[in-house]
Amino acid sequence: MTLPNKGQDQTEVKKKTPQDFIFGKVIGEGSFSTVYLAKDVQTNMEFAIKILEKTHIIREKKTEYVMREKEVLRILGSSCRYFVHLYSTFQDVERLYFVLSYAKNGELLKHIILHKKFSFDCTRYYAAELVLALEYLNSKNIVHRDLKPENILFDNNFHILITDFGSAKIEKKSEIQANGDTDHSVQGPRRRRNSFVGTAQFVSPEMLQESKSSFASDLWALGCIVYQMASGKMPFTGGSEYLIFQKIIKLEYQFPEDFDDTIKDFVEKLLVLEPNRRLGASDSIPYTSLRAHKMFEGINWNDLGPPPKLSSDTSTLIKSQDSSPDISENLEPGLDNQKVSRLVLKDMLPEVIDAKSKTERKKSEANRKITEVSQEELEKRLQAQRSNPFSVFVEGNLILKQGLIDKKKGLFPRRRMFLLTLGPHLYYADPVTMTFKGEVPFSADLRTEAKNFKTFFIHTPNRKYYLEDPEGYALEWCNAIDQVKEHYFPSGQVPKENSIQ
Ligand code: ATP
Repeated sequence: MTLPNKGQDQTEVKKKTPQDFIFGKVIGEGSFSTVYLAKDVQTNMEFAIKILEKTHIIREKKTEYVMREKEVLRILGSSCRYFVHLYSTFQDVERLYFVLSYAKNGELLKHIILHKKFSFDCTRYYAAELVLALEYLNSKNIVHRDLKPENILFDNNFHILITDFGSAKIEKKSEIQANGDTDHSVQGPRRRRNSFVGTAQFVSPEMLQESKSSFASDLWALGCIVYQMASGKMPFTGGSEYLIFQKIIKLEYQFPEDFDDTIKDFVEKLLVLEPNRRLGASDSIPYTSLRAHKMFEGINWNDLGPPPKLSSDTSTLIKSQDSSPDISENLEPGLDNQKVSRLVLKDMLPEVIDAKSKTERKKSEANRKITEVSQEELEKRLQAQRSNPFSVFVEGNLILKQGLIDKKKGLFPRRRMFLLTLGPHLYYADPVTMTFKGEVPFSADLRTEAKNFKTFFIHTPNRKYYLEDPEGYALEWCNAIDQVKEHYFPSGQVPKENSIQ
């Protein structure tokens, strides 16, 4: 297997090189990539440049994933505004570079978390953009297969830009079957060390049960995303992937009481176990029945117009959290190893570290279990937590402990803000871009292991997390995580209700 090579890119007029760009801040990190904001030195245009380390990709056997993403982005081209556009690709000895349109307003997930949930108008507007995007994908015979709010970005005008096509499938016309086809080459949402990457909550039942995917799999994901936009919650949740998958295949989910009836009807028609019976799945002209749903009454499909405002106050919140200049004036073009390390490992948010050491002191004063919180104290602390900028990532749960931890993955450790909460949850977020990155799944099988004062591991059934507390509080982290686990899984078996003592 070879990586994309020069010959494949001969259609481009002149190959770009890293020297054609000034690289600014890191705007995101994936399992196999780091994404930088960059400016073309000639045109001054801003791009998101995704950089992949070749050795890492080969070691992790992700060549096929990378090539697929490139191929699909090329097929999509630039004629539909709802997709990230691949402007060019180039490589040097160590890395591959994907020059992509810059989605200035980050992930849809971040905005759902910030706003708790979207209004009816916002939900229907973004559902409409997604319908148009799915129509385009369908016209290009592409099934995304990993649609979720992390893979839907917002451009500078808050229009969606769908990304992450590594798991996509290009259906050959002759192979398109009503029931979808069994794909033995790649398993839907890509797996990392036998676990689903990111959230597993959006996987369709047919992908879980039969490894079958079709355009209807994306319609299932659309149902999940619309549910999440309207309620702030995911339809299928559980303490482990296994429990989530059980719920998905049994179609076991509920709507919150205040869920809008029209949106509910739309979601119910998409979250249908039989793929062919999902709304739009059997349309002769895709997706006319989606467009005709009463949720979209009055929508002008030829011009959706500008998006409704999400809300004014949170845009200032986002700005205040990320006040670092996008691209410093004094940077030189290109990206050498030194710059990579400087950009990735630079020290961040000293005030958060201060706040952390205060919390440590306070906690050691009180010699009691961190999960012992009275109702009164819970309310007070939740109230106080509102001023914590990281509270937007914890879904209203009480933060018991937080701190910056280097999460080791690939070549560079990624510095993350870890947030241990009641629930139980252990969330982590990127403190530079203020984006939600993931969650270590709690279960009776979770196990901590402190190696020394700095290094510790968290073992979960599907993954081992390599973590390093730069301040040397690894033991305290393990202790805190163990206490939370013991509180919710006292017998090591039965999960406790989401309650406090
Ligand atoms: P994984 O491979 O672990 O699933 P991923 O697919 O999200 O991660 P990338 O596509 O490399 O990995 O993206 C990493 C992060 O960078 C994303 O989470 C996103 O927030 C940000 N990002 C990616 N592409 C862009 C873009 N075009 N504009 C702005 N931000 C981007």
